Amino acid sequence: MNTSIHPDERAARVQLAACYRIFAMLGWTEMIYNHITVRLPEGVTGGAANDGGDGGNGGNSAAQFLINPFGLHYSEVTASNLVKIDAQGRVLDGSAHPVNPAGFTVHAAIHNGLAGAHCVMHTHTTAGVAVACLEGGLQQTNFYTAQLHGMVAYHDFEGITIHADEGPRLLQSIGSRNAVILRNHGLLAWGHTLPQTFAILWTLQRACEIQMATFSMGRAIPVSEEIAARCTRDALQFSPAHGAGQDVFNALVRQVDRLDASYKN
Ligand SMILES: [Zn+2]
Repeated sequence: MNTSIHPDERAARVQLAACYRIFAMLGWTEMIYNHITVRLPEGVTGGAANDGGDGGNGGNSAAQFLINPFGLHYSEVTASNLVKIDAQGRVLDGSAHPVNPAGFTVHAAIHNGLAGAHCVMHTHTTAGVAVACLEGGLQQTNFYTAQLHGMVAYHDFEGITIHADEGPRLLQSIGSRNAVILRNHGLLAWGHTLPQTFAILWTLQRACEIQMATFSMGRAIPVSEEIAARCTRDALQFSPAHGAGQDVFNALVRQVDRLDASYKN
């Protein structure tokens, strides 16, 4: 990798590339589609990523993001082939790889509209899309849904998400909830850090997998709102005091390292 890259950008690139490989390892891929994006820290952009006190409008025309090169499978993503783009999806780092600006539309709306959204992840896993297509969506019936009490937002399907005018409606649907079910479409999570976002998306994915399996067998046993609320309070994986997903993420990075450490290139 280019040695002139700011150390914080280098760290963000290695962490994001590792995350793409984790998604590939878990089977959370959709051929060459879908994205995981991060906003580069202000140490890299000279304050452009500042997220403080702007009333929730984190949009800054100078903010910079990393995204996967369009056309590569997640298993081919490396720290150096990640593409640096601006808030409009324009390439900033002279990368030879194209990006999918249409695919960045949803991510841009969230990064620019939610000050704390440093990382955005979106998947089309079968379980995630299946629950997104289900009337009633995610239902309070399993260990994982119980840990997401009050955390899941829904956004109605408006077609392929390439039109920027959907952004404000998407933000309105999301409110402040970090887990999002895009109806008829897929799953999305955003967070302050990549590991935190991963922990949220992983829990949502597991909730959908278990619901799909349960509902295919028959009627599920409901979990009361009271129990679910307590589970969510007791759940450790989102809490900064308990690593906010960092420990889990680190363990999966070690697994990727044993399989193929070429993502660091
Ligand atoms: Zn999608």
